[in-house]
Amino acid sequence: NKEMLKKYRGLPSISKDGKKVEIAGNIGSPEDAKKVIENGGEGIGLFRTEFLFMDRDGMPTEEEQFESYKEVATAMEGKPVIIRTLDIGGDKEIPYMGIVQDENPFLGYRAIRLCLDRKDDIYIPQLRALLRASAFGNIKIMLPLITSMDEIREAKALISDIKKELDEKNIAYNKNIEVGIMVETAAASLLADIFAKEVDFFSIGTNDLIQYTMSVDRGNVKIAGLYSPFSPAVLRSINRIITEGKKAGIMVGMCGEAASDPLLIPVLLSWGMDEFSMSASSILKSRQIISGCDSKELKVKVDKVLEMSTEGEIKEYLKKLTEELG
Ligand code: PEP
Ligand code: MG
Repeated sequence: NKEMLKKYRGLPSISKDGKKVEIAGNIGSPEDAKKVIENGGEGIGLFRTEFLFMDRDGMPTEEEQFESYKEVATAMEGKPVIIRTLDIGGDKEIPYMGIVQDENPFLGYRAIRLCLDRKDDIYIPQLRALLRASAFGNIKIMLPLITSMDEIREAKALISDIKKELDEKNIAYNKNIEVGIMVETAAASLLADIFAKEVDFFSIGTNDLIQYTMSVDRGNVKIAGLYSPFSPAVLRSINRIITEGKKAGIMVGMCGEAASDPLLIPVLLSWGMDEFSMSASSILKSRQIISGCDSKELKVKVDKVLEMSTEGEIKEYLKKLTEELG
């Protein structure tokens, strides 16, 4: 079967009815990019930069970060590379940063909230490193855990200020660099129509979107039954995000685990999702599934899940539907 998948390595990701999408890889370090290329990835859909900050005694300097981002951008040879700004807190702790553990870490001081609060020592050096590296490839900046327009505007204003500074110093960067957001909170989903007018792309983070939609801790095994991408509420939310993003004409991707779920791929494809980002090992299998889907024909059948009331019913239905696809 692995042998059979190999033929998809050099092929585009295109459905039976000719809809072209992008299958990209999730990475945590520049080395990971090699695996994405080996597996025929068409880009990087999520570089989790927090891994550059973990397992060490102090923060990586702007220069170290610049080298890492540049390495990925160069290795991908002009293919899109979405780099997410620091997303720590919640389940990802960094001891040397002096962050006091919150009583509710997932609802607390993390990600964009922390970064906008620590511009001088954390956010500005990272954004400057990203902008400088953008001269070497197709880097896009992604903001994590967005819940409000103010956060988007504050981050964009900061990026603009750094661009001016680079201009003054004659330092190269991509002036048209795209800035997008993770859509992974209930607030961002509900405001997707508004946010879509302010950013260049969406990437749906189902790992957190499920957690924040279902009020279920993503790591708690006792309530893991509630943690499912097939929950009616989660699927309606995903449908809404894709629909609103496409209506505004921006790219909509997904970088949460659900993006490589064989039962969900046909659903996401028929709803119009443009980019699927996943671990390198899932890329070829997902391309094979997409090649076997007629997204237009599937749409009517897939839309039925939006009227279903239980997770079990939806999962059963999608299992049957995928079996029919062969
Ligand atoms: C997500 O929340 O779906 C996501 C991709 O980000 P992380 O798993 O790093 O929170
Ligand atoms: Mg997340």
